[in-house]
Amino acid sequence: MAEADRRRGGDRRDAHDWHALEPAQALAILDASAGGLAGDEPARRLARYGPNRLPRGRHRSALRRFIGQFDNLLIYVLLAAAVLAGAIGHFTDAAVIAAVVLVNAVIGFVQEGRAERALDAIRGMIDPTASAIRDGRRTTLRAEAIVPGDVVLLEAGDRVPADLRLLRARNLRVDEAVLTGESVPVDKGVAPVDPAAALGDRTSMAFSGTFVTAGQATGVAVETGGATELGRISAMIGAVERLATPLVRQMDRFARQVTVLVLGLSVLVFGYAVWFRSYPLDEAFMAVVGLAVAAIPEGLPAVMTIALAVGVQRMAARNAIVRRLPAVETLGSVSVICSDKTGTLTRNEMTVSAVETALTDFRVESDGYRPSGRFLVAGEPVDPPAYPVLEELALAALLCNDAHLRGTDGGWAVDGDPMEGALVAFAGKAGHDLTAARAGLARLDEIPFDSRHRYMATLHARPGRAPVVYVKGAPERIVEMCTAEATPDGDRPIDLERWHRRTEALAADGQRVLAVARRAMPPGTEDIRPEDVEAGLTLLGLVGLIDPPRPEAIAAVAECRSAGIRVKMITGDHGATAQAIARQLGLDDDPRAVTGHDLDRMADDDFHRHAQEATVFARTSPEHKLRLVESLQADGSIIAMTGDGVNDAPALKRADVGVAMGGKGTEAAKEASEMVLADDNFASIVAAVREGRTVYDNLTKVIAWTLPTNGGEAFTIVLAILFGLTVPVTPVQILWINMITAVALGLALAFEPTEPGTMRRSARPAGQGLLTRRLLWRIAFVSGLMVAGTFGIYAWATARGLDIETARTMVVNVLVVMEIFYLFSVRYVHGTALTWRGVLGTPAVLMGVGAVVVAQFAFTYLPVMQAVFASRPVALPDGLVIVAVGAALLAVVEIEKRVAERIGRRG
Ligand code: ADP
Ligand code: MG
Repeated sequence: MAEADRRRGGDRRDAHDWHALEPAQALAILDASAGGLAGDEPARRLARYGPNRLPRGRHRSALRRFIGQFDNLLIYVLLAAAVLAGAIGHFTDAAVIAAVVLVNAVIGFVQEGRAERALDAIRGMIDPTASAIRDGRRTTLRAEAIVPGDVVLLEAGDRVPADLRLLRARNLRVDEAVLTGESVPVDKGVAPVDPAAALGDRTSMAFSGTFVTAGQATGVAVETGGATELGRISAMIGAVERLATPLVRQMDRFARQVTVLVLGLSVLVFGYAVWFRSYPLDEAFMAVVGLAVAAIPEGLPAVMTIALAVGVQRMAARNAIVRRLPAVETLGSVSVICSDKTGTLTRNEMTVSAVETALTDFRVESDGYRPSGRFLVAGEPVDPPAYPVLEELALAALLCNDAHLRGTDGGWAVDGDPMEGALVAFAGKAGHDLTAARAGLARLDEIPFDSRHRYMATLHARPGRAPVVYVKGAPERIVEMCTAEATPDGDRPIDLERWHRRTEALAADGQRVLAVARRAMPPGTEDIRPEDVEAGLTLLGLVGLIDPPRPEAIAAVAECRSAGIRVKMITGDHGATAQAIARQLGLDDDPRAVTGHDLDRMADDDFHRHAQEATVFARTSPEHKLRLVESLQADGSIIAMTGDGVNDAPALKRADVGVAMGGKGTEAAKEASEMVLADDNFASIVAAVREGRTVYDNLTKVIAWTLPTNGGEAFTIVLAILFGLTVPVTPVQILWINMITAVALGLALAFEPTEPGTMRRSARPAGQGLLTRRLLWRIAFVSGLMVAGTFGIYAWATARGLDIETARTMVVNVLVVMEIFYLFSVRYVHGTALTWRGVLGTPAVLMGVGAVVVAQFAFTYLPVMQAVFASRPVALPDGLVIVAVGAALLAVVEIEKRVAERIGRRG
């Protein structure tokens, strides 16, 4: 106790060894009760103890971030150059260099801040939720709103929202790896433990940030926010995720290598200029500074980061929330999407459409979840009370059920599982008074639904009679547990064959089929175990439910097929049902289905073949997902895998892109995934893949545009020195070009929309770097063209006797004009830019170009600029020639694109 007290010294509440107290004591200390907080008490406590969140992971302060902008090799070079230029009397140059460094830092600072804020906002979209009892009712609220004294409900998959003293626990197991590093889940209970117990042994507590892997519990929140055990170690886990992904790091490395190379080269060029070409020292020095400025792609990683942030934002707008930044890149190369069926590919708006009892087949008319409607037998409306088995089946479906219906303005809505909601509506149609029936036959015990055993059972007290168990679940499972079938004249032996046939027929029609059964229990029974319900049941009948495919999923599946992405459906549902839905979705021309049962009996190579070839995986459990991912990954496929339950976490982690459901997904699934779908919709995955491809294209475009620009400028200087010419462009002029164009033009590429045809190409090979051979060739080729353009203009100007300043001004203008024209070409990596759409550009591009044109006019004609940059006015005909050179460059690059494509297609 003393030790704990010391540890908690500065805490806001008196310290207690909660784990050693009885639940009642804990409640008393917290002035709370098992019935939860009520009225404005939560608000009062929230004001007193503060929100239940960890102190914000330390963001770098603004000043730090600003200073960080200067931590860059090129900047050091530039600052040294500014000092040296000043020392040798080039004061204007020194000032311009210093100003550019500053402007660069400000721009970098602002952009980085914007990117970080955007990502923060997106992260906020998936704030965890928690369930607590407030005002006597189970309420879902943001985990942040939990206050000490709140009674919190836990179930499998939940992330524990605060430190809880358990009040009631049923088979509760918790994964405490975040706190203790122990990866084996711990059994929890309510019994107090030794005050001196280590954290991992405090089994009467559930700690904030840990995950419930099984069971159910309630607990009272004893500590929240920074006062939790997690809060104590939050310094460790609160670290901010940096904006770096593998590709950005790759380019970062590349930029650094280029920098070192260029600096080495600069020294050589400097030596050569002074010794062999007898340049004056200061002129040689300034030329070399120009070279360094021209060649080092200093802005590249920053622009790439912005392209990624833009991608993350666009994905969020399409309901795909990226939790881990590298997923933005991986998404672009996804080649297989493994998706859940129910609710992801289908609408998860279920309606009961058929009911089959031993003697009668009913069709059911439905209008959403409205609990009224007609039953038809052989096309004729019938009166449900005339069919006692139907009545009892409907009662069982209502009682063995956790959903509730709620009238809304527009109709009826479900609280709970949509399938169970449909069953409640069905019970209403059959004439049951929903509330009265549930109150009249109180539930004594239950076996909750679990995707492994695929049924749910509840035990009910019947006034004046022995209690009864109602069971509903997958027909193969239920029918084999039955020995009898119910008829209006009493039970008779079951005809198993016939029920199997009827199940298959309903499933083949795409219906989700449930079987419903009962068993009378001995008087006095108060609880049930699986043994009690897994034999000796009486079958009441089958229920067929319709859950139509989402229309947007059908379109998204078609898009995947044209994009060379295979879509596989993984479901707990019946094979025939899944296959019918797969056909409706167009997953495959003739979708092949395998069941989990089949998979279990396969050896690895057989499994691998089926994993490859089958489209539908039915009656699977979460374990199959992991094995499927591993098997599909074995030959280099990049897998996106969806999941929602706690058991899906291993597969989600293993998949290249784990995709959790934002709506019905558990916190454990979200935590394990790279991406969360706000709308649980398959189409959103495909939208994210499309954005992922766009981001990758845009990164390529940024590189394909930036590097030749740098190359062209650098080689112009190197060649001039090699041939002993006057350098055709000064360092400050190069700084000007880089600053103006990189900001206005290069950045525009980060915002490029998706190119047409993006989803008609096949996926990019996994692990392909950005600098492909094709791209390197393009960089060299365009660099060469740029050198030719600048030298051409320079030679032409000097040959006509124009002074060196005017010639240089023309060189600056021709470089910028070529960059503008080249930008239009680069915008279309995979097709010609010479289309109406291509010429029109986007607002971002047009604004960028407009800004650059204005800036160039200022550069050329404004006296101030002429003083700073030693520029001179250019005559109109010369200006036209300059524009013509740019147009010529575009034409040549487009021809090269066509030729390369031909060769590529042939080769
Ligand atoms: P899905 O992949 O379609 O979400 P599930 O694992 O949820 O599949 O369900 C598998 C099967 O289990 C269903 O086809 C149904 O027969 C049965 N089932 C699903 N939910 C329930 C439930 N709440 N109660 C009883 N049975 C259920
Ligand atoms: Mg389900």
